[in-house]
Amino acid sequence: MSLNDRLGFDPAKVFINGAWVAPESGETLALENPSTGEVVGNIARGAERDIDNAVSAAQSALDGIWGRKTALERGRILTRIGELVLENVDLLAELEAADVGKPLTQARNDAVALARYMEFYGGAADKIHGETIPYLDGYTVYTLREPHGVTGHIVPWNYPMQIIGRSVGAALAMGNAAVLKPAEEACLTALTFARIAHEAGLPEGALNVVPGLGEEAGAALTAHPGVNHISFTGSVGVGSLVQSSAARNVVPVTLELGGKSPQIVFDDADIDKALPFLVNAGIQNAGQTCSASSRILVQKAVYEDVVARMAERYRALRVGPAADDLEVGPLISARQKEIVSGFLDMAVSDNLDIAAQGAVVKGAPENGHYVAPALIAGVKPDHALAQDEIFGPVQVVIPFDTEEEAVSIANGTDYGLVAGVWTRDGARQMRLARAIRTGQVFINNYGAGGGVELPFGGIGKSGHGREKGFEALYGFSVLKTVAAHHG
Ligand code: NAD
Repeated sequence: MSLNDRLGFDPAKVFINGAWVAPESGETLALENPSTGEVVGNIARGAERDIDNAVSAAQSALDGIWGRKTALERGRILTRIGELVLENVDLLAELEAADVGKPLTQARNDAVALARYMEFYGGAADKIHGETIPYLDGYTVYTLREPHGVTGHIVPWNYPMQIIGRSVGAALAMGNAAVLKPAEEACLTALTFARIAHEAGLPEGALNVVPGLGEEAGAALTAHPGVNHISFTGSVGVGSLVQSSAARNVVPVTLELGGKSPQIVFDDADIDKALPFLVNAGIQNAGQTCSASSRILVQKAVYEDVVARMAERYRALRVGPAADDLEVGPLISARQKEIVSGFLDMAVSDNLDIAAQGAVVKGAPENGHYVAPALIAGVKPDHALAQDEIFGPVQVVIPFDTEEEAVSIANGTDYGLVAGVWTRDGARQMRLARAIRTGQVFINNYGAGGGVELPFGGIGKSGHGREKGFEALYGFSVLKTVAAHHG
């Protein structure tokens, strides 16, 4: 069966106002499978005029049927979308695996998470209430939560389904109409999601999807005067451009950027329990996870033991095509492989201790973008490998003596997204939860990318604003105060 037949639409088209239409330029971009390096199809090269059409369609939806839906009706549509996503889990998982290079089980988890986001935000849509405020005699004052209007969503390639779930799901729940610009490297699940959403009864124009290059379609979306809120997930450099562009129209932005997230292992920790979290949080999605735990800080008394046991796990890691469903798949692109390999070359030239590596399986396609995961021990906290986001399956281990030193190292990067703390000491757990400067702290667990219900976002160069949980519903709405004088 051809790709178009499996999808039920032509991915070389954009989805605007409930219809598949050719991009105005008529141009397409090649779609590569990172497991093989082969071109498997074409997607639309959407650009400024398509974004313009999509924003108009979204505004018409707000002025029309979508804008008149009650919160309960919106919630029911989202719930139905979640059900249909679950019915399409096999297709979505297969597409995400092929597009991103994600092992099938991980891709399937993402499809289930997308359904869960719809279920969560479907249920939450009518549970966001305003307040009444005691004021002067003769007044009744209350607040209304209203949609921003047209929301722009720029999504990266590493977790398309999860990021669409958390941002588009929350935006639609609050009554916004969305224009989604998925990443040029991986947009098939975004387009399929649009098909499913409309089958589930989402009115035309409420969700529009325009794939294309970042500097064309993405930049056009952030600069468009008809867009009222931007949600961006991606790199720090582009996030900064997005914020500047939105600032010209004085439009609020949520930025979910990168990280260098630590897990801190104290000498009283349950190391058996910690071990799978320590390693998985570094190699999940081949380390291409914003909340990947790429720094492992270990107290000196247990340092040798933890490194030896992590190394044992690393040596068992197999890397291969997404369809083989091994522990680690390929990186997204030749460019990403070059970046990650550059860091590994630096580890060698700086005589760092590569404690263990996984292995690419025999027979893995030669042109796939495979990198053997690497555990690098004894790294100094200020070394580039301990400071820069690598976005590949590479973890560094850093020894420390005291709690104060651990906190100082944990807080010693430009980022602040997620941290994990492993200790049985309850008072220390509470102290660290406060002392660590990140958007999330996990105690005796670590949730890279997980937790639909848990507010998520960064500080510093990891970004600002929160998505996920109920918090996202506040971010995707604006508060209006109504003060009525009735005497
Ligand atoms: P990227 O910033 O290059 O691209 C992200 C998206 O932005 C893509 O859709 C791209 O087309 C678009 N884009 C590119 N240039 C643009 C421009 N000038 N204007 C508007 N849009 C533009 O990032 P990437 O390489 O796709 O993703 C990797 C980065 O994203 C990593 O640094 C990672 O940490 C970060 N990330 C963060 C999170 C998070 O939730 N914090 C999640 C996933 C990825």
